Amino acid sequence: MSTKGTALITGASSGIGATYADRLAKRGYDLLLVARDKDRLDKLAAELRDKTGVNVEVLKADLTIKADVTVVAERLRHDASITLLLNNAGIAANGSLAEANLDEADRLVQLNIVALTHLASAAAASFVKNGRGTIVNVASVVAMLPERFNAVYTASKAYVLSLTQSLHAEIGEKGVHVQAVLPGATRTEIWERAGIDLNAFPPEMVMDVNELVDAALAGLDQKELITIPSLSSAADWDALVNARLALGPNLSLQHAAARYKTTGA
Ligand code: NAP
Repeated sequence: MSTKGTALITGASSGIGATYADRLAKRGYDLLLVARDKDRLDKLAAELRDKTGVNVEVLKADLTIKADVTVVAERLRHDASITLLLNNAGIAANGSLAEANLDEADRLVQLNIVALTHLASAAAASFVKNGRGTIVNVASVVAMLPERFNAVYTASKAYVLSLTQSLHAEIGEKGVHVQAVLPGATRTEIWERAGIDLNAFPPEMVMDVNELVDAALAGLDQKELITIPSLSSAADWDALVNARLALGPNLSLQHAAARYKTTGA
């Protein structure tokens, strides 16, 4: 067993997850690769074993199916060799909420929110018990721009951001490092899968997946809670968090604000 332990990566068969698999193997983690496409996972596993010598296991799971989520969550709860969870599997959506295909919206919520929550909870329980561990949740910059992207995907990523901030408050002092990564547009298959033409984006807005993952890992090394790879000034993020926290004293009070005072009629 590697001294770093095992990294469990969801959505490891392509894009951001497959790139993390490469980098984490090079950092000396054993890997447990989770996704639906077993052939792709097997191929990646063989490549990484050859290249790095780490142990790589493949676990086929459809994380929109409750029974499959339970299998992965149970593994997280009971396998003490797992020291890192990369909650990365996700799908995007296209089009307005009024026109949404609600079966697709359900699958998105199941994968981006429900499965991620179950796995984060299982990892949190295990890592707190062991006094160490890392949970990385892949959100998106659209969590900050709900006016600019479709509702269901954007809301799912706002959930991931909020969950990560709360989780950090709950277990950050218990030896568990928690990070949310907020990629901007990154060149992966997710766009084509969602029927969105990434080539229509200005090229200066689209990051290469290698650069994205390397930046996210640099943020992890710096013990960041929130990593936005393209944001040049970390102070801008801090200012936003501070502005939000400054609302705190006025968010729950006995009386309504003056502008809402009516005569009661
Ligand atoms: P991707 O290349 O499409 O990868 C998505 C991964 O999720 C694949 O490995 C896919 O594998 C897996 N997956 C999809 N449905 C699944 C299911 N039902 N059960 C289990 N695994 C499933 O896209 P990506 O860009 O790397 O996306 C990774 C994460 O980054 C997502 O959470 C996405 O929202 C986030 N993100 C991406 C961008 C971007 O511009 N690319 C920007 C912001 C955030 P299988 O098909 O083999 O199951």
